[in-house]
Amino acid sequence: MHRIYLDNNATTPLLPEVFQAMRPYFGEHFGNASSIHHHGQQTRAAVEDARESVAALLGCRALEIVFTSGGTEADNLAIAGLVAAGDHVITSSIEHHAVLLACKHLEDIGVDVTVLPVDGRGLVDPVDVRRALRPNTKLISVMMANNETGVLQPVEEIGKIAAEAGACFHTDAVQAAGKVAIDVKQIGCHALSISGHKLHAPQGVGALYVRKGTRLRPLFYGGRHERSRRAGTENVPGIVGLGKAAKMAKEALDRGEDKMMAGMRDRLQMRVLAQVGEAAVNGDGAARVPNTTNIHFDHIDGEAMVIALDLKGVAVSTGAACSSGAIEPSHVLIAMGLRPDQARASIRFSLGKQTVAEDIDYALVLVSETVARLRELSPKYTKQPVSTET
Ligand code: PLP
Repeated sequence: MHRIYLDNNATTPLLPEVFQAMRPYFGEHFGNASSIHHHGQQTRAAVEDARESVAALLGCRALEIVFTSGGTEADNLAIAGLVAAGDHVITSSIEHHAVLLACKHLEDIGVDVTVLPVDGRGLVDPVDVRRALRPNTKLISVMMANNETGVLQPVEEIGKIAAEAGACFHTDAVQAAGKVAIDVKQIGCHALSISGHKLHAPQGVGALYVRKGTRLRPLFYGGRHERSRRAGTENVPGIVGLGKAAKMAKEALDRGEDKMMAGMRDRLQMRVLAQVGEAAVNGDGAARVPNTTNIHFDHIDGEAMVIALDLKGVAVSTGAACSSGAIEPSHVLIAMGLRPDQARASIRFSLGKQTVAEDIDYALVLVSETVARLRELSPKYTKQPVSTET
């Protein structure tokens, strides 16, 4: 069966070049990067080289990069590492659960947490951030790009507010890295999380940028790896893969490939809306990462749509991969003001570097057919006239 993968916000396929770069570190280059002999020096050099590449992607210095096991750990390290009992934290209602639940845990240890709302486009208002500040606000954590809608948050404005208030600013850039240019100095953040498997590196590796001079308590105790910020023998093949993917992502951004991807995404979105009717883009009107569109199709069940499309070879998602199978509708879409039935009728299409124009054309036909078929089966649906424009 011809298969089209449009769920790159869940995970991306490893690029062949990334796999090639990693391969020797599963074989002949096996040393522990902390060993002082030849084998250790070889892997140490590879880890430091990867650190330089990740730093170049984020606009920081290599010593400000801490390698982790992924985005979840990077988020938890930033939040638990910067805050203590008696502090106040500001976050938003559309964060990934890695941030939301880390903040919830902080409440159990005596930290006050303010969770800000978003508007109908899924945007946090910087005015709300300023209003929520307290004398003991230690951390503001607002994501750079949302995983479900792709909506980009006003992180630079939030960074300025944090600086004025003397608070730390962390941003979860897991869904932004490699898709849009990132400059940690321009954002003004103290910490920024990324994850390898969202940018065509392997699963199980990520990084946290920590601004030089920022005091961070580690999550783990053990060896002095990663300048004592993350104990544990480094995942050398994973880190090498992340470094190679970061280098390739930066080169692609410098070549303007993000605009090509936005063009394919926009074509998919425009044609779906034109062909299907009674559908709308969640997050429309806000700036978004170039690879994501999230559309609600009235009178359908999103899970049924995902299954029906999968049977035809098209992989999409109803939102966060980790919450599929959950009965609750997406907390992100509900926070944006969608009704639960609209949130449940929403589908996320997310493109990757491997996506080509033919994939979009193929998916378009199947999406239109599938929505029409599911609506025919829906007892509440009465057919509306649709535009013939494509
Ligand atoms: N933050 C965001 C915005 C994400 O989309 C994800 C993964 O879906 C994570 C954090 C967690 O990253 P990881 O899967 O590397 O733990």
